[in-house]
Amino acid sequence: MNFAADYLMTIDGRAVAGEAVVDVINPATGQPFATAPDCSKAQLDLAVAAAQSAFKSWRRAPLAERQALVDRAGDLLLEHVDEVARLFTREQGRPVDLAKTEITRGAMWMKAVAQMSPPVHVAEDSDAQFIETRYVPLGVVCAIAPWNAPVSLAMWKIAPALVAGNTMVLKPSPFTPLCTLKIGELFRDVFPPGVLNVVSGGDDLGPMMTSHPGFAKISFTGSSATGKRVMASAAKDLKRVSLELGGNDAAIVLPDVDLDAVAPKIFFGAFYNSAQICVATKRLYVHEDVYDGLRDRLAAIAASTKVGDGSEQGTVLGPIQNKRQYDRVMALLDDAKASGLTLIQGATVPDNGGYFVPVTIVDDPPEDARVVQEEAFGPILPLLKFSDIDDVIARANASDYGLGGAVWSADTDAAVAIARQIETGTVWVNQNLNLRPDTPFAGHKQSGLGVENGIEGLLEYMAPQALYVAR
Ligand code: NAD
Repeated sequence: MNFAADYLMTIDGRAVAGEAVVDVINPATGQPFATAPDCSKAQLDLAVAAAQSAFKSWRRAPLAERQALVDRAGDLLLEHVDEVARLFTREQGRPVDLAKTEITRGAMWMKAVAQMSPPVHVAEDSDAQFIETRYVPLGVVCAIAPWNAPVSLAMWKIAPALVAGNTMVLKPSPFTPLCTLKIGELFRDVFPPGVLNVVSGGDDLGPMMTSHPGFAKISFTGSSATGKRVMASAAKDLKRVSLELGGNDAAIVLPDVDLDAVAPKIFFGAFYNSAQICVATKRLYVHEDVYDGLRDRLAAIAASTKVGDGSEQGTVLGPIQNKRQYDRVMALLDDAKASGLTLIQGATVPDNGGYFVPVTIVDDPPEDARVVQEEAFGPILPLLKFSDIDDVIARANASDYGLGGAVWSADTDAAVAIARQIETGTVWVNQNLNLRPDTPFAGHKQSGLGVENGIEGLLEYMAPQALYVAR
């Protein structure tokens, strides 16, 4: 299989070209390097019809058989990590080693979810009656993924949806379609035709899918603004929805931390993947006693961190993934400059037409600055001073988002007591970015609706069915 060419959709187990194509741009150069199919309405109809037809037999396949195939798909992806990673770097921008990490984790996710089984609950088993609740699949799932972690976030959807007995039409972001198309090609050898269809296209394809009556469920990962449009579209025929959306995660640093030990961890918790991570630290609240010390250490790490083309040796942070997001991040930077905020910038970035932004720390901006209030989704981190714990907890929670957060302290019990007051679906103590397939990941408030991962995530793709039998 050639990972460097022939990017085709997978519909009903077959390779399908688009009637038109969309350009795919390497964000490290700003230049197109490949094309992806632009799925037409008629092709989407075929994909949905194939998935509906495959659902009839896939839902009846024994759970163990579905689990075994999802596990095999995970193994197959593990066998191709290197090839997928090289392509990942070209379309997404992340350095190759870190691309490998994402793909490996995506594969491990498939294998872990393949171990999960939905529960069966017997409420009564008496002479009078037998009452049991089990979980049944929903039908065809519309899966829509973003560009920041295109492989792992697609695997987060494929694995539970298929183990649960659903079939799927998956759409990657128009900015990062290629790895997902190739993974669709890889999995053609694993799943029966129609079980997993992969389509790609431009900006019109997402709304075309969410309004398609053939889907029973939409599983969407992306921005909160788009998530609201997806939910409105789903309301028309009451499709089930899971929305994993944006965040503006706060991290709180207490005065007793070992600054040298925590600074690198906090830095990469904020800037990993050039800060294009939904659960990256996006507001850093630092106790006034250690504020200067932490700021200076973060600035030193920023100065020594190479930002550049992810295919070059030594690059730690790649470009912003696409021009649209780059323009948004630059507008936020311009706003910070125009507002007179103090910016501390790291290593210089290539000036070659690629979408590079220097690592930027904003030195104690006011709480109402745009860089504090908005999800930057780019390498701009506001550092904010605090002195009072209750006050900082209130500031951390004063957000429409509720995705993740972190507390850093030498006193774990004190940190846990604070962590429990953070109004988000995930909270870390003395760590960050750590997510697991067996632990639910849920956005509170406007960060989402529903759950991914854990048994709760599996059940998002199922509905309870109660069976009452009179004896
Ligand atoms: P986006 O909302 O622009 O796009 C996400 C996907 O939705 C893409 O595939 C896009 O083509 C599609 N889409 C766009 N408009 C649509 C519409 N009207 N109907 C249906 N589909 C549509 O998001 P993005 O810029 O790709 O991703 C960045 C955002 O995703 C950030 O806000 C980030 O925090 C969030 N995110 C959240 C999680 C999470 O699990 N909570 C994970 C990663 C990213």
